[in-house]
Amino acid sequence: MTIRQLPDTLINQIAAGEVVERPASVVKELVENALDAGARRVDIDLEEGGVRLIRVRDDGKGIGADELTLAVSRHATSKIASLDDLEGVATLGFRGEALPSIASVSRFVVSSRRVEAEHGATLEIDGGRVGEVTPRAHPQGTTIEVRDLFFNVPARRKFLKAERTELGHIEDWLRQLALARPDVELRVSHNGKASRRWKGDGDLLSDVRLHEALGEEFARNAMRVDHAAAGLRLHGWIAQPAYNRASADQQYLYVNGRAIRDRSVSHAVKQAYADVLFHGRQPAYVLFLELDPRRVDVNVHPAKHEVRFRDARLIHDFVYRTLHEALAETRAGNAPLAPG
Ligand code: ADP
Ligand code: MG
Repeated sequence: MTIRQLPDTLINQIAAGEVVERPASVVKELVENALDAGARRVDIDLEEGGVRLIRVRDDGKGIGADELTLAVSRHATSKIASLDDLEGVATLGFRGEALPSIASVSRFVVSSRRVEAEHGATLEIDGGRVGEVTPRAHPQGTTIEVRDLFFNVPARRKFLKAERTELGHIEDWLRQLALARPDVELRVSHNGKASRRWKGDGDLLSDVRLHEALGEEFARNAMRVDHAAAGLRLHGWIAQPAYNRASADQQYLYVNGRAIRDRSVSHAVKQAYADVLFHGRQPAYVLFLELDPRRVDVNVHPAKHEVRFRDARLIHDFVYRTLHEALAETRAGNAPLAPG
């Protein structure tokens, strides 16, 4: 075999393998970009579970016509400029990979206008083939359309599931996001019908959102926790032990606003519940952990589902102690309650 440099489109398609698993991953990347751009409202239109169309429109700061081509180039980002920035990154994105990856495996159109710009502009990319930037009217903000995901990668397309399933993944992820960002209005439509609307109604997680996302039962049994020590803050809601689940389906953990999975933190929560829950039952919670971004490495995986804490042991113990205390009252003199 001869060693050769791969063409850009193929490089992007390889990266897409890590970042773009299914329509829900595209929705995640596009909505995170909207949030990083300071959007107050994000509209998400879907067709056929997102496979046929994903359109995300925001009222954020927009992309200048002169930067559209750069925005869809690999390793181009406005969010970090140095290793020092990377180590303290506070935005959801920073890898500069999402747009070129998505654009290499779909029919992609980005249209945008910055607030100070007189005109908007648009750029089309077809399966990685980048077109010309042309003027187009657009309100302040950005719209990205992703059609026919994986149309040029049959091997990936084959793994897409039924419309319902793909839509379900998108809804799961949006629910996760809605809990973390009650200040942003989210509207979702599917196949032309409005399917969901999260009003942006406050800085704090409103009870309304909690009810909508997790149900009345959870809300009725939820206890508020909020504790800070050693530069760490843990706040949110945990369910009384009486309300428990057969699976881990109502466990939401955010680190500096980013939804993640973390074995050490889940373990700490589980341990806090150990003597108040029947074996095999799962607690329900929505927890936000906040700490200096320099104490957590978010650059662990391209899809950023995981982080690495610099002082994992300390955080484990902090979470355990905070929740153990909060549950102390329910524990006092009470045997575990029967599975509900
Ligand atoms: P990253 O988010 O890691 O920077 P992306 O490929 O997702 O990489 O986006 C590349 C760049 O395009 C971003 O850094 C940002 O400057 C710009 N961008 C993308 N989406 C938006 C948006 N909705 N609003 C404003 N700028 C955007
Ligand atoms: Mg991004």
